[in-house]
Amino acid sequence: MKNISERGLMTRIIHAGQHVDPATGAVSTPIYQSSTFAFKNADHGAACFGGAPGYKYTRLGNPTIEALENNIATLEGGCGGLGAASGMAAVNMVYLTFLGQGTHIVGHESLYGPSRMIIESEYPRFGVEYSFVDASNAENVAKAMRDNTKLVYIETPANPTLALTDIRACAEIAHQGGALLVADNTFASPYLQNPLELGADIVLHSMTKFINGHTDVVAGMVVAKDPEVLARLRKVHYNMGGTMDPHQAWLVLRGVKSLGLRMDRAQENALKLAAYLEKHPKVSWVRYPGLESHPQYELGRKQMRGPGAVFSFGVKGGIEAGKTVINNVEIPALAVSLGGIESLIEHPASMTHAGIPLAERLEAGISDDLVRIAVGCETYADLEADLTRVLDMI
Ligand SMILES: *Cc1c(COP(=O)(O)O)cnc(C)c1O
Repeated sequence: MKNISERGLMTRIIHAGQHVDPATGAVSTPIYQSSTFAFKNADHGAACFGGAPGYKYTRLGNPTIEALENNIATLEGGCGGLGAASGMAAVNMVYLTFLGQGTHIVGHESLYGPSRMIIESEYPRFGVEYSFVDASNAENVAKAMRDNTKLVYIETPANPTLALTDIRACAEIAHQGGALLVADNTFASPYLQNPLELGADIVLHSMTKFINGHTDVVAGMVVAKDPEVLARLRKVHYNMGGTMDPHQAWLVLRGVKSLGLRMDRAQENALKLAAYLEKHPKVSWVRYPGLESHPQYELGRKQMRGPGAVFSFGVKGGIEAGKTVINNVEIPALAVSLGGIESLIEHPASMTHAGIPLAERLEAGISDDLVRIAVGCETYADLEADLTRVLDMI
């Protein structure tokens, strides 16, 4: 399709990176399940390895993976994308490319667990220094910058506190200090937020979540704004080997086509459920960028097209009451992850964030009573009735 980047969001979601297969007319992008690609002759092989267009070996590029990379890069407004085996392979691709001996990273204190944990537990072996601060106040990021800061790494909305970070303000701070701004856009998805348009240099996704949307694939993506940044990332990624499989890429391609439809429905359910729970006598607080009670409600309206479908809430009665809720709900599965077509519920203090020392966890806003719900696309009345029933058990 011509001028794809000028088309509407739904059109880009469905068509970007896709084309009818010239050989067969197949409308769905074929799965090029081949590890290697034959050259026409020695000169052609030499040209391909010298940088001419053409496929060589699937770790170094594959048409199905490329279709997905072009799709997400177009949705994010970047110059290109790099598909990764998982969201964490995407995170590590960025870390490995820009961090090393004597460099420093400023990260948001409330990141997806392993994104913070590996910086604290693995990267110091390679001489990497770090500061984790509450980036939802951009002044903290400015104060943490050092001469050797190479990356500012944010996640907004943050997991699982749903705190928002001002992307534009952090981009300015990072650039003033000669660093790149990286935004993990998993929670919002490109349907609701585009960090590159707000000044970020790199955006990354766990496509396991909203982009794939069907709770059946683990995958990641990195999109860069600038071709030079993309080239640096590509060199590291292709040689470190955390690349995608063509079948995995095809499944995500199938999933992303319904991103807008799923997101609209899940967000509608989340808005209703969050408003309902906020008034429920057994609920002490609800944190959701779609509620005016969210401390950064206005920032959310400014930098997001919608508040998304994930929120957290506190149940009166602390950890035991929280457990009663998650142990007795019937519709949401008690499972980590989010962004699937079905609702999922989890308790970070005992599950995803259990590895973080208590004091650090509380400082990051992850209290014992915090229950996180990723609202799916089910019939709203069933979700409300399910939550009402379990809250009555407390
Ligand atoms: C799940 C997740 C990741 C890691 O992705 P995987 O696909 O599980 O490796 C990174 N960031 C966020 C915000 C996530 O939710």
